[in-house]
Amino acid sequence: APVLDGLPQQPADPLLALIGMFRADPRPDKIDLGVGVFRDDGGATPVLDAVKHAEELLLARQDSKSYLGADGDRGFVALLEPIVFGADAANPLRTGVQTPGGTGALRLGMDLLARARPDMAIWIGEPSWANHVPTAAAAQLTVRRHRFFDQVSQRLEIDAMLAGLAQARPGDALLLHGCGHNPSGATVHAADWLRIAAFVRERGLIPFVDLAYQGLAHGLEEDAAGLRILLEAAPEALVAYSCDKNFGMYRDRVGALWVQATDGDALARARSNMLSLARTFWSMPPDHGAAVVRLVLSDPLLRASWEAELAGMRDRIAGLRRAVAATEPRLAALAEQTGMFSLLPVSAAAVTALREEHGIYMAGDARINVAGLRLEDVPRFVAAVGRWLG
Ligand code: PLP
Repeated sequence: APVLDGLPQQPADPLLALIGMFRADPRPDKIDLGVGVFRDDGGATPVLDAVKHAEELLLARQDSKSYLGADGDRGFVALLEPIVFGADAANPLRTGVQTPGGTGALRLGMDLLARARPDMAIWIGEPSWANHVPTAAAAQLTVRRHRFFDQVSQRLEIDAMLAGLAQARPGDALLLHGCGHNPSGATVHAADWLRIAAFVRERGLIPFVDLAYQGLAHGLEEDAAGLRILLEAAPEALVAYSCDKNFGMYRDRVGALWVQATDGDALARARSNMLSLARTFWSMPPDHGAAVVRLVLSDPLLRASWEAELAGMRDRIAGLRRAVAATEPRLAALAEQTGMFSLLPVSAAAVTALREEHGIYMAGDARINVAGLRLEDVPRFVAAVGRWLG
């Protein structure tokens, strides 16, 4: 039999299937809350002005496309560090490399952990981003789950989370969303971060922070607060970062992975393993997006323009959240949540009915991309969802 006959069929990505259904729907007032990209009030996902300008500069100035190294654009990584770790947070025990998006950073970090300690478990909250568990499994890590958020009550479950994590062994990894939790939007407050950080330190866990939405929840500084608390508490830690959302560069695949180690020797060995893994995964990350981000961050005017556009995206999402909550008190939790996503407290049957009867499209678990709403759609959206609320 042909060799490739040995391949089992894999399920189609449900969100991509949803895109197909949405396109085929002839209703003019259909609403797409499926795929997780920012949209403006006209439904577009535009290229940011700051990015367009930096691309023009890059086109005019770039004089070579020769290879870089497996660590990508070092200037890009260095310019992100004060944004992620704080203006005065230079740390000789931290090292970073550019990666293809946040996904590349997650995969690289998980393979690094698997190489360091093959029998470790990585703890992932329930619910979490749909790609977290498959990525950990692809890196051959053992996946354990803990509770995180209750869809019906819309509450963060820190007590249940820490109770579940009581089973973790020292040296296990704990994956945490830095801000704007996907899919729940649940806001982790400073007091919660301090509890988690104290637990991580006491139990000897290694935090792996996934920061994919910095600036889209509360603000650039605010959205890094949890990460900074954790990195202060834990001697060893990993950070996966994405610029794909906060710079609107989704398909350019812009990200970074940092590792914090206990001493310089361990750090150097970690970096050498990051580079050797990257060589076999993608050899080196794609240049364009990181070069553009580097240009934006190194030019004060472009940087100010980016920060203003980012604030505009954040304000639009927050405004939609307030509008939904004000129209329907049973959805009040949405105004407390942050970032692009919320997980509506409705059943799978409701998700199907909303699609079939109202042309409102969302992921099967009732996750909505809040930015997919237009302000004028809010009353109709809320009226349709309201029928299914408890
Ligand atoms: N982490 C989370 C929580 C995400 O939601 C996403 C994207 O949806 C990513 C990481 C990956 O982002 P990227 O497109 O940069 O790979």
